[in-house]
Amino acid sequence: MNSSIKDELLGKNMEELQDYMMEIGEPAFRGRQLFKWIYSKEINSFYDMSDLPRELRKKLDLTARISIPRVLKQRVSADGTRKYLLELRDKKRIETVLIPQGQEKDSRYTICISTQVGCPIGCSFCATGQAGFQRNMDYHEIIGQVLGSKRELKRKLKTDEENIISNVVYMGMGEPFLNYDEMIKSIQMINHPKGLNIGQRHMTVSTSGEVNGIRKLAREELQVTLAVSLHACDDELRNHLVPLNRKYSLDVLKDAIEYYISETNRRVTFEYVMLDEVNIRKLDADNMIKLVKPLLANVNLIPYNEVIGLSFKKPSRQKILQFYSWLMEGGINVTVREEKGADIMAACGQLRSGPNIYKSKN
Ligand code: SAH
Ligand code: SF4
Repeated sequence: MNSSIKDELLGKNMEELQDYMMEIGEPAFRGRQLFKWIYSKEINSFYDMSDLPRELRKKLDLTARISIPRVLKQRVSADGTRKYLLELRDKKRIETVLIPQGQEKDSRYTICISTQVGCPIGCSFCATGQAGFQRNMDYHEIIGQVLGSKRELKRKLKTDEENIISNVVYMGMGEPFLNYDEMIKSIQMINHPKGLNIGQRHMTVSTSGEVNGIRKLAREELQVTLAVSLHACDDELRNHLVPLNRKYSLDVLKDAIEYYISETNRRVTFEYVMLDEVNIRKLDADNMIKLVKPLLANVNLIPYNEVIGLSFKKPSRQKILQFYSWLMEGGINVTVREEKGADIMAACGQLRSGPNIYKSKN
């Protein structure tokens, strides 16, 4: 049978896999076995599913497929951060980053995932935004990148540790809220106790300020953390840095965040990229204090990771600390994000799908 007309099983939930098995004349519990092989063991060859009868493995191999994306290239940073280039079925490429939370040995990882191939928002300082937009990812591709990355990570580290990925951040390529439904479905699948089993409290979704998505998320009754990319606290500067601000100004964004907090009673994280000579003046700190202090929120400062071809610069250590202190003294709950993976261009905002940045295969 031509592989293009095989049934895609990646993305089917437990009930759908049970139904699928019954449709092909098998008992429902075979669907539950399949679910575990796909989402807990990242297996995509039916022949490796050792508790399925040999005949059934053969039958499935002829009629179905599980398209877990392949890791095409990878790089490892001196700090243990890994960047994977994955290929989707239509040959489009996305990037996923794995960040160790402790020493590499025995560490758990945070995975930073993409939701779009490219990004239509076009923030002026961001490599992904500058490279343009290609398409949304399906939710099975979003989950697939977690499974494909996890499988590769386990292989490289020679471990069978099922919980090696403990946190998921939707901070890779793309604006997750412009691909809202697929993002939500992927959260539910990643969270499933018989699959990847990652708690919602260990997931963060980051938006550049898509207010409709923020309002919708407020009503989902999920436990995920909402992060909002602020980057400027006056409209003129934010229009320039985050073009979406021309559509939804800071007032409109603030209303949506207030609504989110009142509906969920959950703390919001503001991300703020620190750009030398651009958005870290005393005036910027004062504006931020005014905006953020009344909200149930904390601020995460991200020293800029420089991007080849863009003129923005990372501030000096001293300027970073100065800005941080102004916010602290102003009563803001603030942290500076530790830089990870910058040496392999895997840090925030350095992702793009071109293969040219993968010089070595580790
Ligand atoms: N598209 C989402 C998620 C992106 S990545 C969003 O914009 O919120 C997570 C954070 O990294 C965002 O706040 C993003 O603005 C920031 N970022 C983008 N490019 C960066 C760069 N070169 N250096 C540091 N942070 C960057
Ligand atoms: Fe898109 Fe986020 Fe980059 Fe802006 S910062 S261009 S929203 S990926």
